Amino acid sequence: MSYFLGIDIGGTKVKLGVVDSEKREIVYDTSVRTRVTAGQDAIVEDIIAVSKEIMEKYPIERVGIGSAGRIDRENGIVITAGNLPFRDLPLAKLISDALGIPAMLDNDGNCAVIGEYLAGVARGKKDVVMITVGTGIGGGIICNGKLLVGKNGRAGELGHFVINIYDPKPCACGLHGCFEQYCSTKALTANTAEATVFHPASILAAVAEERGGVDGQTAFIAAERGCHIAQHLLNKYFETFALALDSIVKIFMPELVIIAGGITNEGEGFLSRLRPHLLPEAEVVISPLKGDCGLFGAALQWLL
Ligand SMILES: [Zn+2]
Repeated sequence: MSYFLGIDIGGTKVKLGVVDSEKREIVYDTSVRTRVTAGQDAIVEDIIAVSKEIMEKYPIERVGIGSAGRIDRENGIVITAGNLPFRDLPLAKLISDALGIPAMLDNDGNCAVIGEYLAGVARGKKDVVMITVGTGIGGGIICNGKLLVGKNGRAGELGHFVINIYDPKPCACGLHGCFEQYCSTKALTANTAEATVFHPASILAAVAEERGGVDGQTAFIAAERGCHIAQHLLNKYFETFALALDSIVKIFMPELVIIAGGITNEGEGFLSRLRPHLLPEAEVVISPLKGDCGLFGAALQWLL
């Protein structure tokens, strides 16, 4: 048996896990808060300290890291990373030098699809697309058994697929009308908040008040209670989501599209609203590994 250490760096916590690379199982995992305001050196120090503790208990052979942001995979560098204070950070080398074992780095979207492909619901398939829905929308694509990396490793940015050209919202990526501007959890939350202001007497507004604010769940709860405003909002959200997803399916014709992210905790509430808008050839599931697919993928990127 051989053990790989996976490190999944997110905006609120860094998850670390020991993966048995043959059984494809997490045998130990822990996490540490991401000290975003303390800066990149502090975050790297925390990761190294926890990794060393883990290495006292497990004979780790390799380490794989997943991080948000623009990644130079070949050189193991985080160029920029959205919510994280990383800038031109040679993360793979820093961690490899500190731990004395080889390290690899990729972005979180790629790690998520690798996780599902090697340890999750996409095992045995050859063409798989992953869509991760959070503050933004990320993605990863396995094409004929290989990760689609593109020039400088920057392929698979599915959140920046343009779906609106007539009244487009500007996006930080430089384009206008990107998928993530309409279907990220942040976009749904913003639309929900706006609807509560326009319809203060609605069930939606009452749900927001009861729960002390609006989040990605608010519209789902209100729709369950029969709120027409929430139903309309979700209908529009899923129509738009399906439009992007169907176009992605037309391009890659994957055997499976896997969707992950907090909003998919709605489970059947999510899929049953999405499916009616989808093409019949779109095979869509919610990630059964949930938050662990990034950790699996980080650790197992060595095997791809
Ligand atoms: Zn964009």
